[in-house]
Amino acid sequence: MQCTTCGRKLKDKKSIDRGYGPVCYEKHLRDLADAEFEKNQVTIDEVIEGDAV
Ligand SMILES: [Zn+2]
Repeated sequence: MQCTTCGRKLKDKKSIDRGYGPVCYEKHLRDLADAEFEKNQVTIDEVIEGDAV
């Protein structure tokens, strides 16, 4: 099992379960949070433009 991001070998079970090393997993979480934030921004914009409220 290797880290999905950097390709390093994963040693502990947690990392193997995640598919990321600890550092890359944190980075991955941050990317997810950013993506979620941007998604929410777009949704809010669409709501405002669509006059749905
Ligand atoms: Zn990695």
